[in-house]
Amino acid sequence: MYSEIQKIKNFPDYYSALNLPFGSSRDLIKNYYYTLAKIFHPDNKQTGQREKFEEIHKAYQILSSDNREQYDKVYIKVYTLKKKLSKEKETVLLSQDRIQYTTSINRLAKRGLLKTGLRKKDRSKYTGEKHDIDLIIFKSEIGKRILVKVPLVVRLLCPSCFGSDIHCESCSGIGTYKGTRLLQISFEPEQIVNNRIYEFELNRLRPEKFIHFKKKKFRIKIELH
Ligand SMILES: [Zn+2]
Repeated sequence: MYSEIQKIKNFPDYYSALNLPFGSSRDLIKNYYYTLAKIFHPDNKQTGQREKFEEIHKAYQILSSDNREQYDKVYIKVYTLKKKLSKEKETVLLSQDRIQYTTSINRLAKRGLLKTGLRKKDRSKYTGEKHDIDLIIFKSEIGKRILVKVPLVVRLLCPSCFGSDIHCESCSGIGTYKGTRLLQISFEPEQIVNNRIYEFELNRLRPEKFIHFKKKKFRIKIELH
């Protein structure tokens, strides 16, 4: 048990080194790395910090390489264990009304952008917004861990035939079902920054093996109220 705890303590959290949540996209990792590297580079006389720079650099090396997959697997194990061992930090589970879809009918109507027959896919073009949801967080919740469960459209592999039987009665031979699943994402207190957008690669966050999200990337914008 002692060595387990030691292992957890020594496990480097490359995501938090870059101030990002687990599952962040490659692009976001790159952006954060370059931004932070500029700030902490030892040549920067005002804000340079060699130790911090090396930590960021190491984090970027791993998370931008093929080793990321392996690292992510261990990460999940370590953090599951860590959660069990440590007393839970105070966590706020956001209710569904704190999730605002940028392409929702209400939202478009409010901005006078509603056109009948406008396909959902095209809506983002009209709003000019690149993120999928706004997450409404109240100032009173600052300092707490925020948990959110976002319903997303998924394709589920047919459990009867696993997509292999064109005469399957369960899925009518289609091989998959359309369904929804809750995508669970948690933000650490220091990640709650107004107007910050986090981008997630959904295939890294799959709750079950036989699920495919319709989207590849999902962007969440933090909005403090
Ligand atoms: Zn089937």
